[in-house]
Amino acid sequence: MSDASLGGNTPVASPAAALTRLVEGNARYVANQPLERDFSAGRAARAQGQAPFAAILGCADSRVAPELAFDQSPGDLFVVRVAGNFVTAEGLGSLEFGAAVLGVKLILVLGHSSCGAVNATVKALREGNAFPGHIAALVDAMQPGIAPVLQHHGHDLEQDAVIANVRHNVGRLRAAAPILSDLVARHQLRVEGGVYDLATGVVHLL
Ligand SMILES: [Zn+2]
Repeated sequence: MSDASLGGNTPVASPAAALTRLVEGNARYVANQPLERDFSAGRAARAQGQAPFAAILGCADSRVAPELAFDQSPGDLFVVRVAGNFVTAEGLGSLEFGAAVLGVKLILVLGHSSCGAVNATVKALREGNAFPGHIAALVDAMQPGIAPVLQHHGHDLEQDAVIANVRHNVGRLRAAAPILSDLVARHQLRVEGGVYDLATGVVHLL
């Protein structure tokens, strides 16, 4: 049995290798064939430090769990989650830490089908719906990324809005100076986007 099959936190050499590892893990998840893991193995080593190979900016949605969807172990993924998987100041700071200090090679912005936060934002833009409490601030913050799609969309506005939201936030992270933009320019980091399909578990890369 290999280290990886025990959740051995195998290092990756490049952003491309990091993306491949996520794609392969998602294929195992979709096939319901996750690697066998011994969660206690490596626990003592993990207590000494972490070296995750990828960061995920994902939605808070309970159905989209990054470690499961990509079949990865504790210590592998640096995960930031917020409803609507969009960039906040604190989330950006977290991702900068993941990239500059922990050395993740890849940041994946992970949207998903039937996203409540995206749908709420579409509703607010189309119908002027007001949402209670701090939900309103969340929807306001997501509007710049989704508003353009209301002018140009295909038959599935909700899915187009999910994709537009991911693309918008990928762009924001790639351009985020001084840390992420610099790492991207030096090819030490890639920022990519994907959409998780709730019905199949497949992550479609954008
Ligand atoms: Zn969501």
